[in-house]
Amino acid sequence: MPYVITDACVKDFVCVAECATSAIAPSFDDSDSGTASQVYINADECIDCGNCATVCVHGAVFAESDLPADKAGFAEKNRAYFL
Ligand code: SF4
Repeated sequence: MPYVITDACVKDFVCVAECATSAIAPSFDDSDSGTASQVYINADECIDCGNCATVCVHGAVFAESDLPADKAGFAEKNRAYFL
């Protein structure tokens, strides 16, 4: 069950640097880092370590199984970014 980033994300890129599997994008250096409304987690690369949620001071990151009901749509939004 991967982790999911929601719209509380402020794109400080702290989680991107923390992820050992490079599952979070865009990174600060990517061409769409300025235009993307948030960063996203690639469910196929996430190993469920939880480090991104731990370092996020904005409360933007949840285990998919713990997503609040009003944030449920972000599981698909995170997946869709990598299609
Ligand atoms: S839970 Fe771990 S592997 Fe998954 S996106 Fe967060 S830091 Fe990366």
